[in-house]
Amino acid sequence: MSPMIRVVAAALLPALLVAQNLTVATRGQPAAYSIVRPANATPPQLYAAQELQTFTEQMTGVKLPVVTDDAPLPERAILVGGTRHTEPVLGGPAGLASLGEDGFRIVTRPPHLLILGGASRGTLYGVYEVLERFGGCRWYASWHSVIPRLDAWVIPAVDETQKPAFALREPFWFDMFNGDLAARNKANGNAMRLAEKHGGKIRFGGGLFCHTFNPLCPPEEFFATHPEYFSEIDGTRVKEHTQLCLTSPEVLKIVTARVLERIRKDPSAKLFSVSQNDWQNCCACPACKAIDDREESHAGTLIQFVNQVAEAVEKEFPEVWIETLAYQYTRKPPKTVRPRRNVVPRLCTIECDFSRPLDGNAFGQNRKFVEDIRGWSAMTDKLFIWDYTTNFRGYTAPFPNVLALQGNVRFFRDNRVVGLFEQGAYQGRHGDFAELKAWLLAKWLWNPDLPAEPLLNDFFAGYYGEAAPLVRRYFDEVHTFYDDPEKKPLRIFDDVKNPVIPDAFYGRAAALWRQAEAAVKTSPAHLYNVRMGAIPVLYARLSREPRQDEIKVWVTEEPGRFAIPPETRGLAAELLARFAEAKDIRISESVERHDATLAQWKALANPPPPPAPQARATVEDALLSLGNRGTWGDTVADPLAEDGSAMKLTNTHYEWCTTLPFSRVAFDPGKKYRLRMRVRVEKEPGKEGEAFWSGVYDAKNKKGCGGCDRKNAAVGDGYAWYDVAEWVPEPAHFFWIGPGRFDKKGGAASAIRALFIDKLEISRAD
Ligand SMILES: [Zn+2]
Repeated sequence: MSPMIRVVAAALLPALLVAQNLTVATRGQPAAYSIVRPANATPPQLYAAQELQTFTEQMTGVKLPVVTDDAPLPERAILVGGTRHTEPVLGGPAGLASLGEDGFRIVTRPPHLLILGGASRGTLYGVYEVLERFGGCRWYASWHSVIPRLDAWVIPAVDETQKPAFALREPFWFDMFNGDLAARNKANGNAMRLAEKHGGKIRFGGGLFCHTFNPLCPPEEFFATHPEYFSEIDGTRVKEHTQLCLTSPEVLKIVTARVLERIRKDPSAKLFSVSQNDWQNCCACPACKAIDDREESHAGTLIQFVNQVAEAVEKEFPEVWIETLAYQYTRKPPKTVRPRRNVVPRLCTIECDFSRPLDGNAFGQNRKFVEDIRGWSAMTDKLFIWDYTTNFRGYTAPFPNVLALQGNVRFFRDNRVVGLFEQGAYQGRHGDFAELKAWLLAKWLWNPDLPAEPLLNDFFAGYYGEAAPLVRRYFDEVHTFYDDPEKKPLRIFDDVKNPVIPDAFYGRAAALWRQAEAAVKTSPAHLYNVRMGAIPVLYARLSREPRQDEIKVWVTEEPGRFAIPPETRGLAAELLARFAEAKDIRISESVERHDATLAQWKALANPPPPPAPQARATVEDALLSLGNRGTWGDTVADPLAEDGSAMKLTNTHYEWCTTLPFSRVAFDPGKKYRLRMRVRVEKEPGKEGEAFWSGVYDAKNKKGCGGCDRKNAAVGDGYAWYDVAEWVPEPAHFFWIGPGRFDKKGGAASAIRALFIDKLEISRAD
């Protein structure tokens, strides 16, 4: 990319071409060129002239004056946007209308350079293209640009027009929300903080972005009086996790009125979403079911409903588009219903494999998706896609999907997609290759045919500096493991413990990242990028360590055996240090998982000293796990319990809902232990039946290792101790207890009112 190389190469070209090179600025000399912009420039045209001036000065030290086109044409000019001089210099019509909102044309008419742009953002994009292609400027992340130092900035003869492959381009990654970074990489999506000077963006309005059924017709407001507005499931209308009854004329009236109300308050937005909530449970009432059966898809009722909303909207707002999701149960296109011309279906890839491109992929969900997109593509010219490009369970987990990205963007382009939303780690920076992925996606959303290898080389060299070859070795190898999508798909909620990427690789990878760090130790900007880039390997290694920090109960002669190893403590401390350095960084889409993981690292980095050896321990009810808390049972105050607290299990079920995983207990290996429990039963007066059942279960070999159950007749009224098991514990074993069993047939009920667990006691039996 060195400009010197270009000058040398140009010297070999015929004299005519060399003569057409424009030397726009020469270091140490007065400005030879002026930037000319329209006197009545729009905000993005003003900003385009300013950005050109700023970066030219940063590259060459020469500040080009910006003048308006009401003055005579300067001797040497860079004409930015459609100026008064543009057509005379060009020698013909500028054809700005044909460039659309975002397109641009860069053309040399020696000694002048013209940057012509589409109505909204085109001129600004044209300026960035000139700076990037001919100046070597790069904007890799909000904190990392490369602006070369040039002795002379030479622009070769050029006449080139570019238009984007997609009207809406959204690399939905945290850092790309930065307006300057997004504009410089030609992204114009809804979440980007694009100001007027950036030419704005294609925007969802009225707070209606996705999953809008509940906000538009809230069950809290309507369910009590009109349950028929909501999903009927197995003959019952449901309030929780519900959808709308899409054949109800009243629901249509409510939703239409509320959508219109929101558009009136936000009329400059292009898109408003009328879309299903983020769960299943679509309405199966006879009227809805009849349509969906006929259409062989739940998209039947959905599109029919959204069409009617859109028809009403069009009368008042003909330019507005109504978006809806083709997601999970509505992903399959309807058989005969067609989206109206102002309806935008947004098809979602959530179920797919992302190790390889969607098409030509043996994974079953990918094959189905390919069928679905072909169906949608044939019935609309406004198809949008919601695609997934990170691991949402662990943004900071290795997620080797880069080999799929370009193929997928091309596949969407080839299927006539007009809006592409690429959801990544949107809550924090430094997810797995986050900056690379966001940058590549921005490039490919503009032009999916840009070859991958030069882009990768460009990013690695610019972003990692001298460490580039080492990071590239890691990148190449981490992309080799998911080589069979049918048998080992790469999916967006995978656990980092998934063994497709082997432990041995992470060992090698850690060494590679250490070398990479050493290679850039004198370059703070690259060092930061390398240190952040290494987080996924540290995260994967620590996540795979045995969870000795989970131990809460000690029944062992050798507590030191269970101490957190120094390597584990070191990994946790290292991750905490890098997180502190990174600031805005997020582990997981779930805030609970993020917080729990950080808390775990803190505990691992500074563990309390192990307790004294002991042969007997009590386990209070607070340490027990409870499934379906709030429904199957809960922790309650109980004056009869020795510590005043008990776990109360309800009589509506007889699940093994209360458990103690023995990963929380430090046992001496190979020794025999005894487990007993202190429980009480509130019996149903006059009723005979089982009071409780309990045991120790071996999850690995799927068999019991002892147990204890009692009939009502065999238990008293207060708390009592019951022996549960005497056995040799293994890590895969767990304790469980449930309320007494009863035959549910014919509406039969439990023989007890409730079961209370005060505590367990575990002791050595030999
Ligand atoms: Zn219905």
